[in-house]
Amino acid sequence: MTRFDTRAVHAGREDFQALCVHAPPLDLSTTYPVADLAVGTASFDALVGGEAGAPNPIYARLHNPTVARTEAALAVLEGTEACVAFASGMAALTAVLLERRQHGAHVLVVRPLYGTSDHLLASGLCGLEAEFVEAGEIAARRRPDTALVIIETPANPTLDLVDIRAAVAAAGEVPVLVDSTFATPVLQTPAALGATYVLHSATKFLGGHGDVIAGVVCCSEEHARPLRTVRAATGALLHPLAAYLLHRGLPTLALRVERAQANAEVLSRRLAAHPAVSRVHYPGLRTVRNAHLLGTQQRGPGSLIAFEMAGGYQAAAAVMRQVRLMTPAVSLGSVDTLIQHPAGLTHRVVSESAKAASGITPGLLRLSVGIEHADDLWDDLRQAIEAAASATRVADAA
Ligand SMILES: *Cc1c(COP(=O)(O)O)cnc(C)c1O
Repeated sequence: MTRFDTRAVHAGREDFQALCVHAPPLDLSTTYPVADLAVGTASFDALVGGEAGAPNPIYARLHNPTVARTEAALAVLEGTEACVAFASGMAALTAVLLERRQHGAHVLVVRPLYGTSDHLLASGLCGLEAEFVEAGEIAARRRPDTALVIIETPANPTLDLVDIRAAVAAAGEVPVLVDSTFATPVLQTPAALGATYVLHSATKFLGGHGDVIAGVVCCSEEHARPLRTVRAATGALLHPLAAYLLHRGLPTLALRVERAQANAEVLSRRLAAHPAVSRVHYPGLRTVRNAHLLGTQQRGPGSLIAFEMAGGYQAAAAVMRQVRLMTPAVSLGSVDTLIQHPAGLTHRVVSESAKAASGITPGLLRLSVGIEHADDLWDDLRQAIEAAASATRVADAA
C-alpha cells in the first residue's frame, strides 16, 4: 500500500482517468430525474436504509456524489471502511448520539472535551444521560444500558491525552467514539486502536483554510449505515460545495500539519522560557496528562498549545488585544495562527466546576499555530505578551 502522503493526494480521485477529469466534478443538483420508477423506488429504499450509494441518487438529502467522493477519501485516510459527512462537527456528534440512543440511554464521557460537545451532552438534549468520568473509571461505571463511551484526544483545550486502547478495553462491548479533531489522521488513527467511531470537526485541520464548516464520522460500513439513515431523516447534510473544498484541502493535509507542528515545537519552548508565562500545556514538552502516548498512540505533538499568563485574566485579555499577525479568534487548524481565550469563549458553556477541574483558568490562552514562519509568529507573540505584562503591571501599580 502507498504511504499516507501519497494517499492524501490521490484518495477519492481514483476514477479521474476514466472520467477524463483532473478536478473532482461538483454536482449541485437537489433532485435527480426518475424515468424508471422501479429503479427509483429501489434506490430510494436503499438510500433511506443507509446504503452508501444507489443507481439513482433521487434527492440530495439522500445522496450526493461530490459528498460521497470526499467521504471515500477520508475513509482512506482514517483506514476505515466508511465515512459519513455532516453539516458540522456538532451535527456529526448529534447523529451518533441519536443512533446510539436506540441502544441505551446512558453515555460515559471523559472530560475535558470541546465546550459545545460538553454542553450538548450535559444538557441531555439528545435524550441520553451523560455521566462524566475519568478515563480510569470507564470499566467500573459501565451499565447494561451504556450505549457509548466518548473520549477526545488530544483534549480541548488542555491537550491532555487519553489512552485509546485502554478506553476501548475498559468499554468492553460498548462502542467508543474518539474525537480526533486535534490529531488529524496524520498524527493518529484511532480505528486501528479499536475505536468504533472516529469523529472530526472537519472545519478545523481537514478543511484547513478557515472557509468550510463540516463534520465527519469514520467507521465500519455496519456502523455507517444507521448514521446515513439519521442524516437522511434529520437533514444535517454537508453541502456539496463544502465537500468539494474539504476534498481540495486533503492533498496538503500532511504538509500543513507537519509545518504547523514544527512551528508549535519552537513556540512552546520559547513560551515555556518566558517569565510572563506561568504554564505551558503542550504534549511535546511532556506537560500534559499521558504524554507517554506520544510516539506510540500519537505520532507527533501537534500544533495546539495552551498557556497561562502569570498576570491572569487581564493579561490574557491584553494578549488577545495586542497580537497583530495572529488572529484573535476561536476555531483552529487553519493555515494561519489563531489565539483565543477558552474560559471566555469556546468553553464558556462548560460548568464552572468542570472548568476548574479541567484546568481552564482565567489566564489560559489557546494557540492554534499556523504555517507562517516560526520567527515571525514568535516576534508577534512576544511583543503581545510583553505589552500585556507591562499593561497589567501598570494597572496593578495604579
Ligand atoms: C470545533 C470542534 C467541534 C465542533 O465542530 P463544528 O464543526 O464547529 O461543529 C468538535 N470537537 C472538537 C474537538 C472541535 O474542535
